[in-house]
Amino acid sequence: MTNEFTIKLNERESEKVRKGYPLIEKDAVKSQALPNEEGALLKIVDQSGAFLAKGYYGIQNKGIGWILSTRKEEIIDRDFFVRRINEAFSKREQLFEDGNTTAFRVFNGDGDGIGGITIDYYDGYYVFTWYSEGIYHFHKQLYAAFEQVTSFKAIYEKKRFAKQGKYVEDDDFVMGSRGQFPLLVKENGIHFAVYLNDGPMVGVFLDQRQVRKRIHDQYSEGKTVLNTFSYTGAFSAAAALGGAVKTTSVDLAKRSLPKTIEQFSVNGIDYEAQDIVVMDVFNYFSYAKKKNKRFDLIVLDPPSFARSKKHTFSAAKDYTGLLQEAIEITERQGVIVASTNSSAFSMKKFKGFIKEAFRQNGRKYKIAEEYSLPDDFKTTNHFPEGDYLKVCFIQLD
Ligand code: SAH
Repeated sequence: MTNEFTIKLNERESEKVRKGYPLIEKDAVKSQALPNEEGALLKIVDQSGAFLAKGYYGIQNKGIGWILSTRKEEIIDRDFFVRRINEAFSKREQLFEDGNTTAFRVFNGDGDGIGGITIDYYDGYYVFTWYSEGIYHFHKQLYAAFEQVTSFKAIYEKKRFAKQGKYVEDDDFVMGSRGQFPLLVKENGIHFAVYLNDGPMVGVFLDQRQVRKRIHDQYSEGKTVLNTFSYTGAFSAAAALGGAVKTTSVDLAKRSLPKTIEQFSVNGIDYEAQDIVVMDVFNYFSYAKKKNKRFDLIVLDPPSFARSKKHTFSAAKDYTGLLQEAIEITERQGVIVASTNSSAFSMKKFKGFIKEAFRQNGRKYKIAEEYSLPDDFKTTNHFPEGDYLKVCFIQLD
């Protein structure tokens, strides 16, 4: 390729790249010229000018681009993308063959060798999520490569690069024949109604598959369940199908009410026998305490950051407080499923929040199970911060 832009890394950054680190960090290129436009191909060299890697220029969070290959002779063209997509598909063969699960991730950014893009599968439909202008620059080549690898009903896309990862409002349909929504997908036999052309979120977070399965299989039978930050009630549906006596779903977004009714309905659950509450979770905790309500199982799955009228919640600062509230309304021998998708802290730190919450409350606990991302959300040891999900099943005394 003739139009590669050369980036020179300092010794520390060069060593990281030699060891396999896939992100080109902002700080590493502070004092040098950058390409005029995102999507430029980069040749990354060390201080002596020796070749380290090829990558692309695309601004996303802490990085200004991703490494695509450490092979000097590798040409970044359609065939390159075909190879990467093929490799990713072959790693998901088991999921494609599993008749009980028709929604999962088929391509997970740098974990599958191309940072900045994810591809999810929904029963014959695919959703591409683009995280920078830079990677979107390659969209024609990537779609052509994708068509070469697989057939599909249709492709939809989410462009999350307006400002700081925000979603670009658009018609998300790309090609194929348009779907009818809601589309019904399955996950270990649980149904979910998804909408691929209605904003950035489709109705279910696929990274919680293992957690929903555990809640369904092992933690729900005969239990009262409180699902906080419930969104479309995916955890509530899993619990109800798993034999919960009753579920209570709490979310402050008005749309969560019809969405949760729909999620119960597509699973044949009588939603009128369940509680669906549109309320700030923190107000709900006060209400529950006042009314002496207690739950056997509480799911905490807040966003990393959220602002409501009264509260600003940041997982990194406020998780301990959230846990304390939950502990107070958990039955004896109850379970709290504490989840976070914040990449701002590690599992170790998360366990520290749990320890601190219980210390302040004076109740005893043990962590019965823990989860991070499932295999289809492929990550590598070279980029541990890519494995953002942390879930602990906390067994109370
Ligand atoms: N647990 C959900 C995903 C949560 S998404 C699932 O498994 O599908 C985060 C949700 O938190 C959003 O639906 C948002 O409306 C809700 N939310 C944010 N702040 C909140 C608050 N203070 N009280 C209640 N819900 C809140």
